[in-house]
Amino acid sequence: MNALVATNRNFKLAARLLGLDSKLEKSLLIPFREIKVECTIPKDDGTLASFVGFRIQHDNARGPMKGGIRYHPEVDPDEVNALAQLMTWKTAVANIPYGGAKGGIGCNPGDLSISELERLTRVFTQKIHDLIGIHADVPAPDMGTGPQTMAWILDEYSKFHGHSPAVVTGKPIDLGGSLGRDAATGRGVLFATEALLNEHGKNIAGQRFVIQGFGNVGSWAARLIGEKGGKIVAVSDISGAIKNSKGIDVPTLGGVINRENANDIKAKFIIEAANHPTDPEADEILSKKGVVILPDIYANSGGVTVSYFEWVQNIQGFMWDEEKVNNELKTYMTRGFKDVKEMCRTHNCDLRMGAFTLGVNRVARATVLRGWEA
Ligand code: GLU
Repeated sequence: MNALVATNRNFKLAARLLGLDSKLEKSLLIPFREIKVECTIPKDDGTLASFVGFRIQHDNARGPMKGGIRYHPEVDPDEVNALAQLMTWKTAVANIPYGGAKGGIGCNPGDLSISELERLTRVFTQKIHDLIGIHADVPAPDMGTGPQTMAWILDEYSKFHGHSPAVVTGKPIDLGGSLGRDAATGRGVLFATEALLNEHGKNIAGQRFVIQGFGNVGSWAARLIGEKGGKIVAVSDISGAIKNSKGIDVPTLGGVINRENANDIKAKFIIEAANHPTDPEADEILSKKGVVILPDIYANSGGVTVSYFEWVQNIQGFMWDEEKVNNELKTYMTRGFKDVKEMCRTHNCDLRMGAFTLGVNRVARATVLRGWEA
């Protein structure tokens, strides 16, 4: 199922559970602003190459919009839109003072040299610099981007607005990045997993884990879970292969966990460290089987939470030590789990709807308090 259709469906289910007014529901769903820009760069061989870049700013009722920028061949407006919306609910679930946004450039970063990537990032920044900002919209890394990408955005943005380290997070430490940001999403996944297992009377130690995806998030989560005595029994990544002699239907491939493979899953718990890895159809199959799913907008919120700590440190002009970052992260993740569970009890729903109702309710309350007077 298309990522936007799936995300809208979850949002609407949450809105029903909360009994939201239909006009408010509509206004929460429509993005604040959708930016689409053409980015043309000279390649190293002198030929020109054009790419399309997006920044979708979904909501800012609770604070500046926040979310990553991904470089990936399949970046399209619907996907970025869905991911921007998920950021709005995620920052609200984490209870950090942000809204949600997401960006991306449709490109294969593996096919571009470092200098081509730098030119592409700078051109993209030139096109969006007046629409992002410390108190407007704060980008961060996502799939296919990292601290170096943030350094280029910071440098290009600063040419127009003066030195502004807080305009992006996930920066290199030398440019004001936070200690612990690199590991933060994986460490947040560890804390989220601990909270879930404790609730079921279990510990990480002795449990068997299968990790799907082994980039920044999966590799840190595996390492930290391993350090706590968890047994990693399998990992797979983009370099692994799927096959289907009848041909692969790429659009229906969508989420990593879909109706084609949901029945084969033997795990008791699924921790969604990626964004939107599970299709709603798979969600239904898995919950019928009694599989407990810890949803993305809570489980992977450690990354954006430490992004918030980075932004706070930049604004204060003061650097925290790594222990403080990790301790604060644990406090946020543990509190987030309690808040999600509270909504599950109130609305008699699963963890995904617990997280969605929590996030949507916080954004709805902020929206109503701010009002609509023109
Ligand atoms: N890209 C990450 C996410 O999906 C981090 C976003 C951020 O730190 O702003 O949550």
